[in-house]
Amino acid sequence: MTGSVQTVTILGATGSIGDSTLDVIARHEHAYDIHALSANDNAGKMAELCQRWKPRFAVMKDCDAALSLKASLMALDLDTEVLCGVDGLISVVEADEVDYVVAAIVGAAGLVPTLAAARKGKRILLANKESLVMSGKLFIDTARQNGATILPVDSEHNAIFQCLPDALMDDGCSVDRLNSTRNTGIERLLLTASGGPFRDFDAQQLEHVTPEQAVAHPNWNMGRKISVDSATLMNKGLELIEAWWLFDIDISCIEVVVHPQSVIHSMVSYTDGSVLAQMGNPDMRTPIAHALAWPERIASGVEPLDIFEVAKLEFERPDMERFPCLRLCYEAIKLGGSATVVLNAANEIAVQAFLDGRIGFTGIAEVIEHALEQAEIEEDVSSLEAILAADAAARNISEQYVSTIINKSYEHIT
Ligand code: NAD
Ligand code: MG
Repeated sequence: MTGSVQTVTILGATGSIGDSTLDVIARHEHAYDIHALSANDNAGKMAELCQRWKPRFAVMKDCDAALSLKASLMALDLDTEVLCGVDGLISVVEADEVDYVVAAIVGAAGLVPTLAAARKGKRILLANKESLVMSGKLFIDTARQNGATILPVDSEHNAIFQCLPDALMDDGCSVDRLNSTRNTGIERLLLTASGGPFRDFDAQQLEHVTPEQAVAHPNWNMGRKISVDSATLMNKGLELIEAWWLFDIDISCIEVVVHPQSVIHSMVSYTDGSVLAQMGNPDMRTPIAHALAWPERIASGVEPLDIFEVAKLEFERPDMERFPCLRLCYEAIKLGGSATVVLNAANEIAVQAFLDGRIGFTGIAEVIEHALEQAEIEEDVSSLEAILAADAAARNISEQYVSTIINKSYEHIT
């Protein structure tokens, strides 16, 4: 990386990971050139970003928002070209001049453009865990076949990546290497979880939590969907699946550890008794800076960890009775095939219904459990079409079930 300028496309530039990425890049402007920024429909924030970063392209998923952005950019006399829709996203990912793609769209919407980056052999800074949960083998195989480098931005996976032997990771996470555990001595990956804002809540308290409480994470400042996922422990389950695909290790060798201080971001345990941990303040700029500069290191703007201030590190086992979403993730892994696609789709529908005040917090796991029971689990998910079909079917089933829950609670009241 030294000396050369890397050209970057940021998918999901207006979100929390987008903000953190641009904050790191702002500290090293000479080293990165922004090719394109993308967002869903926030044309106002995108206009500000265009003014600041002057990308060649700005892509809005929503085509009406693209029109309004176009008008704003014209008024600002900026020559950033505005594109819209999935085709626009794909074109700014696939462009020959793009070296790095930051995959920071939330949810299943990130799948198609992130897969396009793998197909074009880009360096992918992967935050969008849902795309990997949905497409696992297809994504990893596509990356491998086309020489793409996957660098995990999710803090836990980035931590594991940092704790693995360098020789294994010389092309990012796109090859199956942990299978050779005999040579490397890797025994287990310890995936840490903060436990979320309701770690100590009992079953009754969990019934009554509000969206506002759920999005107020004690340690991390994140988008709304991932904040709810953290509160249900679904985030840890999605990360379990993410680690399983990224590091190609038996699921029984990955253990979830609740660690409320979020100072250790994950660990790797070796056969000689060594446990390597990556530590730092809980700030996504650290894994983002790591993935941007790897194999070098750059400043991220994150305060150094004050170990005396931390003073105490605690660890406990996750409680899958109070947090059934984690159990459902293990079940989906066991079911195989399209089950993780169903799990992810049902979760997205359920989280949105919870955020909209249509169902309660504990209803989220109910919707997912119902979808896993009712959906046809397809064995073959080796094509994008099969994955998208399973996703659409599970969304239907889940939407219908959300309506059933709402009707039931309405009958209960009247
Ligand atoms: P966010 O909600 O803050 O931002 C999401 C971004 O995606 C926005 O730019 C939004 O405009 C865009 N977007 C939303 N829907 C879209 C659609 N249908 N089509 C195209 N673009 C769309 O979310 P976030 O917290 O930044 O998380 C982004 C991803 O990173 C998620 O997959 C999340 O799980 C992962 N992640 C986030 C964090 C974190 O600290 N925020 C940590 C680890 C992993
Ligand atoms: Mg994480």
